[in-house]
Amino acid sequence: MTPDIYNDKRFGINHKDISPNALSIISKLHKSGFKAYIVGGGIRDMIKGLHPKDFDIVTDCEPEEIRRIFRNSRIIGRRFKLVHIAFPDEVLETTTFRSGGTNASESIEVNDKGRIVRDNHWGTQEEDVMRRDLTINSIYYDPFSHEVIDYTNGIKDLKDRKIKFIGNSSERILEDPVRILRAIRFAAKLNFTIDKEIADGIKEHKHQLLEMPSARLYEEILKLFMSGHAENSYKQLSSHGVFDVLFPHYQDRDGLFHKFFLNAFKETDQRLESGKKLNVGFIYAILLWPKVFVDSEISEQINFKKFYRSIAGVVRKQQIITSVPKKFSSFIKDVWMNQVRFNRVGKKSLNFTKNLRFRAAYDFLLLRGKIEPDLKFTIDWWTEFKTANYDKKIRLLNTYKKKNARRYNS
Ligand code: ATP
Ligand code: MG
Repeated sequence: MTPDIYNDKRFGINHKDISPNALSIISKLHKSGFKAYIVGGGIRDMIKGLHPKDFDIVTDCEPEEIRRIFRNSRIIGRRFKLVHIAFPDEVLETTTFRSGGTNASESIEVNDKGRIVRDNHWGTQEEDVMRRDLTINSIYYDPFSHEVIDYTNGIKDLKDRKIKFIGNSSERILEDPVRILRAIRFAAKLNFTIDKEIADGIKEHKHQLLEMPSARLYEEILKLFMSGHAENSYKQLSSHGVFDVLFPHYQDRDGLFHKFFLNAFKETDQRLESGKKLNVGFIYAILLWPKVFVDSEISEQINFKKFYRSIAGVVRKQQIITSVPKKFSSFIKDVWMNQVRFNRVGKKSLNFTKNLRFRAAYDFLLLRGKIEPDLKFTIDWWTEFKTANYDKKIRLLNTYKKKNARRYNS
């Protein structure tokens, strides 16, 4: 295998774009006589002119030896052993070249479904390339020799904006079905097109995702929806039929929820863009809302106990698929429970606006308003109420009943 080698100048890459910690690890490994490169998102994103989220390092140095060279490091993982090297401001992942991959499947342990159960056989760089998922993720960069090394036409696919697996798509998906979500995520993030072969593979094997550990799927959900491309992720997941696999608990009515998701995720991306924080609980409240909405009619007369039981069931069922950490599940339920409080206007409404979770519930109400035109009166009233001073609040409360009755009579 002869790779294409480019000088980093060609892509306008500069050491100042690279994490100094990554540079220091690579330099130290070189000095100890090892090869070391930046691989994956770090180099992919720099070539695309984006700011990488992190820098993954790959080397021919084995984990125990890396551990010895870097005092601030520890070995993690069983299925994939790698080393975390800790700095005050970040933790960097350093992996050792592996020999597992499409042309060397004897060296990885797979189960009877073709699934990788262990891959800790160290190999050469040529072998390491083949076990990576996408062509655009298998570019290596040595910042000191300034060489960008491409074995799989990854640079061409970056230029052509293509998502392609290395090797046979179906096999690569069966080895690790989470790669379906990775392909979708990178397509969403970079606005790339998913190769037809991958699309077919996804269609055929998407249900295999349900056999993946819920914690891994949870990690992917976070990356899909909390990295600034939630709307695109949703579009990709839904057009490839994967959204319904991950969130199977509802039937969309006339594309109503499709509209809800598009709106909600567009706002999610805008929030992040404007520097605001995102809350995992809020994302899950959005993702699971259709089921809650269809199951329970949110109204003044709602049976709270029944409602609570129903929403707890929604969260519990989802937990089995993508896991929902406990610390977020109470937030999710609160966002939904609090929707009822917008219909029950009274003295308690004064305290509600002071509640820490009012803001989230109110933002959620606004999202609902986009597909529930009947909410206009409620939204307008609460929008005025929440910013009013005490006297005005009392006045608004006193006139609420009359106004509310009037809208039904007119
Ligand atoms: P991100 O910007 O999200 O960090 P990334 O491409 O760096 O994107 P990582 O999850 O950090 O993704 O993984 C680093 C590299 O390891 C990938 O680029 C890819 O080469 C390889 N890799 C990660 N997960 C898999 C997988 N499930 N199958 C094959 N290769 C993988
Ligand atoms: Mg990475």
